[in-house]
Amino acid sequence: MRILITGSAGFVGSHLVERFLRDGHTVVGLDNYLSGQRRNTELFLAHPNFRFIEADVSRHLPYDGERLDWVLHFASPASPPHYQQYPIETLMVGAQGTQHALDLASQHGAGFLLASTSEVYGDPLVHPQPESYWGHVNPNGVRSCYDEAKRYAEAITMAYHRDRGVDTRIIRIFNTYGPRMRHDDGRVVTNFIHQALRGEALTIHGDGSQTRSFQFVDDLVEGIVRLMGVRYHEPVNLGNPDEYTIVQFAHLIRDLIDPSLDVTFEAAAQDDPKQRKPDIARARDLLGWTPRVSLIEGLSRTVEDFRADSKVPLLFSTTTSG
Ligand code: UDP
Repeated sequence: MRILITGSAGFVGSHLVERFLRDGHTVVGLDNYLSGQRRNTELFLAHPNFRFIEADVSRHLPYDGERLDWVLHFASPASPPHYQQYPIETLMVGAQGTQHALDLASQHGAGFLLASTSEVYGDPLVHPQPESYWGHVNPNGVRSCYDEAKRYAEAITMAYHRDRGVDTRIIRIFNTYGPRMRHDDGRVVTNFIHQALRGEALTIHGDGSQTRSFQFVDDLVEGIVRLMGVRYHEPVNLGNPDEYTIVQFAHLIRDLIDPSLDVTFEAAAQDDPKQRKPDIARARDLLGWTPRVSLIEGLSRTVEDFRADSKVPLLFSTTTSG
């Protein structure tokens, strides 16, 4: 197959490129490096079945090559400090960017897959979150640029499916981590690992009773590949239901790297969801998919990647309160 991936230089995008090339497909990557990393493109440039286009999908999608089988739309800043630094770009890539990617899929008669997010559930009042839950989102708060962009992206994806017959898929990605995360993205996984590797205290925002459920990137990629293989157009949660409070998570990383480190408590981030855990019954029933990689195993692999590359400076403050 010939597969175009927007956001190919991002964390998840680069793992998709790797998987599809390994499976023998041709991949066209596209990124504008707003949050993607050039070195994620450089990894594949020598591969005969990889081609890269540097462009901003929110403005245009300059692909004029052979017929595509799939368009996968993964372009967007995704960490809270990053999308809050670029709120307008984040809204644009969820809106115009999604429409440009849908138009391309429609022109080529290709499948279209949207990377949506657990953030569409906002600060959820239903726990765990099934796809049928409509969410509890602040429409104009500091996270709204991301949440509402992805909600709009889901809406326009379904509109292209219903109105134009595009063969669409929607995944809702829960917190995902692994090698090649941007070290300065300001997320809890990257901050805690960096802090621990530098011998610093781990910074918990708020009282640390808020929960997250962390999925290793290889499990996500497997879920995406399986969903492309079935005709199903409603959203599908992809996440690991193994839930931790942020305090538990800090202790886990500390114990993995240096049990003598302190944890400190800072101001809570604005509009921070109090709980998040996917209901994955749909993915399990539809795809026979469940996450395989335990948190300890996935974190160990991620820490190794960070150790090998720990000289990257931090661009974002570790305080994410908007
Ligand atoms: N968080 C934290 N310390 C940090 C970074 C984040 O305690 O250094 C908290 C954050 O407030 C949130 C959780 O960890 O409750 C997950 O934050 P992240 O930015 O990774 O992503 P989110 O799940 O909020 O999109």
